[in-house]
Amino acid sequence: MNPNDRPQPGLWHLAERAQAMNPSAIREILKVTERPGILNFAGGLPSPETFPVAAMREACAAVLAEGSPVAKPSLQYASSEGLPELRQWVAAELGKQGARVSPEQVLITTGSQQGLDLVAKVLIDAGSRVLVETPTYLGALQAFTPMQPRFASVPSDEGGVSVQGLRDVLQKGERPRFVYLLPNFQNPTGRTQDAARREAIVALCREQGLPIVEDNPYGELWFDAPPPAPLLARWPEGVIYLGSFSKILAPGLRLGYVVAPPALYPKLLQAKQAADLHTPGFNQRVVAEVIKDGFLDRHVPTIRARYHAQRDAMLAALARHMAGLGVQWTQPVGGMFVWVTLPAGLNAQALLPAAVDAGMAFVPGAPFYAEQPDARTLRLSFVTATPEQIERGMAMLAGVVRQAVS
Ligand code: PMP
Repeated sequence: MNPNDRPQPGLWHLAERAQAMNPSAIREILKVTERPGILNFAGGLPSPETFPVAAMREACAAVLAEGSPVAKPSLQYASSEGLPELRQWVAAELGKQGARVSPEQVLITTGSQQGLDLVAKVLIDAGSRVLVETPTYLGALQAFTPMQPRFASVPSDEGGVSVQGLRDVLQKGERPRFVYLLPNFQNPTGRTQDAARREAIVALCREQGLPIVEDNPYGELWFDAPPPAPLLARWPEGVIYLGSFSKILAPGLRLGYVVAPPALYPKLLQAKQAADLHTPGFNQRVVAEVIKDGFLDRHVPTIRARYHAQRDAMLAALARHMAGLGVQWTQPVGGMFVWVTLPAGLNAQALLPAAVDAGMAFVPGAPFYAEQPDARTLRLSFVTATPEQIERGMAMLAGVVRQAVS
């Protein structure tokens, strides 16, 4: 070590918000799973088999072609709001789902994860109350935490966040800044709110003056029927909506979007300017080129069919191997995840090393809780393994559970 590299005690005084940051609990846990040959159900990654490499290659070539009028603009600084073609596409897609959105309300972000960060900066003060589902998306907890909110967890059941639970939490303390909700194929549980639940939630939020942050990266990945209209369609002025190209094209593009009520849009835009000026213009231009002729109408059904077969394989394998063990799991109708609850007394994190030794990996559920984790829970992704690997992996998991309960 060069003597000049030695840390000087007391030189760096961390901001309170930095002290509130934590290493991703999942990343630490997943280090255990990075063994060659392991059947990995732990990741949150889409299947790389779904990435449209040829369409991307052609679109890149078209954007950069000799004489292409968009070649140089795609490499220049661009507007903070995002490429007009993409903003129009987002507004049109949401229109098909019953949400009347103008392109001026759409902010193209560097992944929807950035949308969560911008929302946190614009809406959370230190000590603000923020409501989240039980459990919820870990990355949202990470994005909100530096702004030092006080989280309150709203109980959930098989149909998503509970309306009575929300009413109870609202009665207990000061008015929250917002409630963060994932109505479609939730990460981590795979649960979906039906239309009646959505109506009831929106009615209560309207009545109580509680804004909603609706996160929907998985909504297009339905198996048998599209999910009900988004919360945004039911209460346009009270909902910030987050969407993403990560699960329908490729996450490496880092392309997402925020749809905000006009009253809030300028603040989110200012936060976006400060964060990174704009979302990479080249990526936006390439995606606009890829999707311009209805490509997604052909491509997304192939992802749905693939994930549907994998979901079927996982539910069948769980039913076969877990019989009689007292294990419960969700029945997702879309998305990428199944949520498993082990019998009372078992701890998913404590079982992980044995599962890895047996040849498979999952994510323990505890990090997905803002408060009081349920140590029996774990998340399984069904999208990156083949049906045959899923069958073997679930047999391994059942073996580990059988050992632990015996
Ligand atoms: N929200 C949820 C619920 C997610 O699961 C993810 C990605 N795993 C994101 C947001 C962020 O996605 P991206 O930044 O790739 O759009």
